Amino acid sequence: MEKLVIVGAGISGLTAAIYASRANLKPLVIAGKEEGGQLMLTTEVENYPGFPEGVLGPDLIAKCREQAKKFGTRFKDGNLEAFAAKPNNIYELTVEGEKIETESVIIATGASARTLGLESEKKYWAKGVHTCATCDGYFYSGKDVVVVGGGDSACEESLFLSKVANSVTIIHRKDAFKASKIMQERVFSNSKIKAVWNSAVEEILGDGKKVTAVRIKDVNSGKTTELKTDAVFLAIGHVPNTAVFKGILDLDENGYIIADGRMRTKLPGVFAAGDVHDKIYRQAVTAAGMGCQAALEAERYIQ
Ligand code: NDP
Repeated sequence: MEKLVIVGAGISGLTAAIYASRANLKPLVIAGKEEGGQLMLTTEVENYPGFPEGVLGPDLIAKCREQAKKFGTRFKDGNLEAFAAKPNNIYELTVEGEKIETESVIIATGASARTLGLESEKKYWAKGVHTCATCDGYFYSGKDVVVVGGGDSACEESLFLSKVANSVTIIHRKDAFKASKIMQERVFSNSKIKAVWNSAVEEILGDGKKVTAVRIKDVNSGKTTELKTDAVFLAIGHVPNTAVFKGILDLDENGYIIADGRMRTKLPGVFAAGDVHDKIYRQAVTAAGMGCQAALEAERYIQ
């Protein structure tokens, strides 16, 4: 029987592991198949405290993993396939067919940015195609950028980008934003941001090394046009990785795990930390903070 299993090896899960292993809980981390979470998809992280020169996302993750290992964290590769609540607050996790029983669980499975599903998107990933303006927007200082989407994220990303970029063009598939009124007002009153309505990004074009343009299709007329741009920021929503917890834990209407301010879910001894729970901040540092909170709560719970 394990004391604590941490599901997910992104910045939140690894921070939880560092704290839990230092509390001698000997946590087992289920690292998943694509270990490391969203930081593995970014290049330079310039807003993580303590790194004035910036730090590469994958390097930060590698260092956190090393730190967790140093204090006795164990890692198991593979995805969580099933999660069950057993009598007496025991939890059973199935990983690659193997069943693991534990007294407590920290869920830090993160969220994945929704993508358009284009081959060209993969080709230019992190070379002009991004999903986080706060992380990567600075690289487009004085450049022209495109934001795809029509929700609060698209507006927020555009407002952030407008502070550094020369121009921001929001491409939205409908004729109106679904974002909150206040966000829309901010966007409409910003002279650097304009919107292209009723349009879908059909292809991301580039010179093989970086993005140079997007091909957009008018969804009403079917007409296609090319728009020059240095970057494409996708803001078409995130999908929390919670499918395996459906029906067992409370999820909100967008699939995020509902937990209280102390990271506690409705099940005793089960905590949720990072982007699997947080749809507001979604920052590496906040995910790390929640991982710490969840570990301290798990320690208290086990005691
Ligand atoms: P949303 O789901 O609210 O919006 C996603 C947007 O992307 C929609 O406009 C949608 O279009 C569009 N979209 C989805 N899939 C595609 C696709 N395949 N191709 C093109 N466009 C697509 O996600 P957000 O990330 O914006 O927001 C998630 C939640 O987080 C919301 O509850 C939001 O309010 C909240 N949030 C709050 C913020 C704040 O308060 N400061 C900041 C950011 C997020 P369509 O409109 O046609 O469905």
